[in-house]
Amino acid sequence: MLSQFNSLENALQHFFGYQQFRPGQKQIINEALNNKDLLVIMPTGGGKSLCFQLPALLKPGICVVVSPLIALMQDQVDTLMDNGIGATFLNSTLNRQELQSRENAILKGKIKLLYVAPERLLNESFLNFLDFLSQKIGLSSFAIDEAHCVSAWGHDFRPEYRQLKQIRLRYPNVSVLALTATATKRVRADIIEQLGLKNPSIHLASFDRPNLYYEVQPKSKRSYTQLLNYIRSQEGSGIVYCLSRKNVETIAFRLQQDGIDALPYHAGMYDDERAINQTRFIRDDVRIIVATVAFGMGIDKPDVRFVIHYDLPRNLESYYQESGRAGRDSEPANCALFFSFGDLKKIEYLIDQKSDLNEQKVARQQLRQVVDYAEGNECRRSIILRYFGQQFKGKCSNCDNCRNPKPIEDWTIEAQKFLSCVARCQERFGMSHIIDILRGSKKKKIEKYGHHLLSTYGIGKERSVEEWKMLGRSLIHQGFVNETTDGFPVLKLNKYSWEIFRNERKVEVAVTKSLVSKATNDYNPRKAESDLLLDKLRQLRKHLADQNHIAPYVVFADSSLRLMAQIKPQNLETFQKISGVTAYKSQQYGDSFVSVIREFCQQQSLPTPLPTASNMITFQLYQQGLTVPEISERRNLRESTIYNHISELIEMNQPIDINDFIPQHKKTMIIKCIQTIGDSSLTPLKNHLGDDYSYNELRLTRAWYRRENK
Ligand code: ADP
Ligand code: ZN
Repeated sequence: MLSQFNSLENALQHFFGYQQFRPGQKQIINEALNNKDLLVIMPTGGGKSLCFQLPALLKPGICVVVSPLIALMQDQVDTLMDNGIGATFLNSTLNRQELQSRENAILKGKIKLLYVAPERLLNESFLNFLDFLSQKIGLSSFAIDEAHCVSAWGHDFRPEYRQLKQIRLRYPNVSVLALTATATKRVRADIIEQLGLKNPSIHLASFDRPNLYYEVQPKSKRSYTQLLNYIRSQEGSGIVYCLSRKNVETIAFRLQQDGIDALPYHAGMYDDERAINQTRFIRDDVRIIVATVAFGMGIDKPDVRFVIHYDLPRNLESYYQESGRAGRDSEPANCALFFSFGDLKKIEYLIDQKSDLNEQKVARQQLRQVVDYAEGNECRRSIILRYFGQQFKGKCSNCDNCRNPKPIEDWTIEAQKFLSCVARCQERFGMSHIIDILRGSKKKKIEKYGHHLLSTYGIGKERSVEEWKMLGRSLIHQGFVNETTDGFPVLKLNKYSWEIFRNERKVEVAVTKSLVSKATNDYNPRKAESDLLLDKLRQLRKHLADQNHIAPYVVFADSSLRLMAQIKPQNLETFQKISGVTAYKSQQYGDSFVSVIREFCQQQSLPTPLPTASNMITFQLYQQGLTVPEISERRNLRESTIYNHISELIEMNQPIDINDFIPQHKKTMIIKCIQTIGDSSLTPLKNHLGDDYSYNELRLTRAWYRRENK
């Protein structure tokens, strides 16, 4: 099968429309083609699916894919089928008839990838079916997706996965490919052992997600407005995570009031309502989902462009997982964490309420790591990857700390004032009280303790409350003063505090100048133009997706759409060169997209294309009197391609007589039909006119119609 393609790259282009492999993919695919057992560990969005899909298409027989979640299965199968690849799934949502017809399709050899849930795979009647398949068609391999589910050490243990070893025992010669995004050593060892992988080749990719921009914003008092502004500055779909159901409801409601399409999602809602909201988000009916962390498990929307944590995440691992739901398609995406000390205190309070001391300890430690991330001044990516045990060298230039490092200032004198105030209060008070004294506040509490008589009273009026807080947080963060964590937080001096008093230690503070977010005034007319087109292409994509009952990203990924908006292909030949566009997709959708692009270029008076070299050759042969089948044979191109050339030539006003290709009465019918339902897509025309009319005839007539109606 591979020989048909000359190279793996050609096969990649043919089936998926991509020009190059991502790091690791090619080697994995080569090993899979050699029937090796494999363990593939790649971060989300790294391109794991391709590692078993492409070999499955190139090997004889059928690949059985085990996937734990029905939504994921449906999604992958939709995407494959929309690329003309034979794939199907069997699970509990199907009725007897559907099962039967799918099994028939499988036995006819029409299917290369069969997705099943683990519980089905192991049921006796399905195993019998597999035995039969294995004799009749052959099994090319087993791919176990989300393989960490096999391990009790992972975060997603599923007992059914434990039984999968039976498969290995039953079909010892069929290779097994295990894939996961979970990297701990323990889980890794468990997967190999539990699945009975034989001398597997292990591929561990970096955990870095270079397309994600990480930032932390100090959460302001008017945090809702801050959120609204953030969302308004962003493009595409986004998730807003909140801690409580109540917050989810309120924020979703307020966003709706402010004209943003948003829906809530949390565990307290009815199942069907939740499912509907999720689907509407995936299908791009709404832009924003406001959710508790209940949302996201098992959804696979690759084009989420931003994830905002409106409240603090529980720990850094969940933060990486949740924010990692952005940009699964590897396109740029933003992860923002809104951080406030008020929220921090609330969570500390909740932790104090826990009765189990050990749990308290773990929760405190985890919270500490989140705070270290949020308050840290070094590269955010380095902080996260270090947490996962991976060294990341230097600066990533794709996080707020790398892009806009906060200016470092010497605040030793301020620190001395602050710490000496702590000392004079006998280390019995918290930060706000200390700041009140420094700023000479008239609060009752101050007089009550006689603190207005301290020598440090009013010596810090030149700095605002916010600035003193920033210093206080920084001192705690740098370990120059301690804060008690049992109940009411009190500041305590330590040996570093004393070094500061003695001028033996300088205090440097990374200064947050203001809460303004990234400036967006980098107006670029060329970009504005392609954005305009991009909007139109998005609308078309949504329209076509709705017609076919699939998610918009199944039609084309964001990256492909963006390339279309930049390159503006005005004929099918250049259209097909866009990354992510296969011949099959181009046949299915090319016309619609090309015509929107052309119309746009005409409206903007951008140059319309001259006939391509290939069109011109067809044109010359036509002028010599050859028929379409003859031209097709001479040029070794498909007839449909020749018809495309001729349609394009007609639309470009070249001297071609359409009556050479279509009888008058048919042309009249088609034009009538175009006049009632429009000419943006051929599919509705075809549905309307039926089998007597071919796509070629429709395309030719439409070209003629467009030329006449310019
Ligand atoms: P994972 O399962 O590792 O989270 P996917 O397999 O869903 O990731 O791939 C993420 C995205 O990257 C998909 O949109 C996929 O089509 C795309 N992709 C995979 N391989 C390539 C490649 N070689 N070139 C371009 N895009 C790719
Ligand atoms: Zn960085």
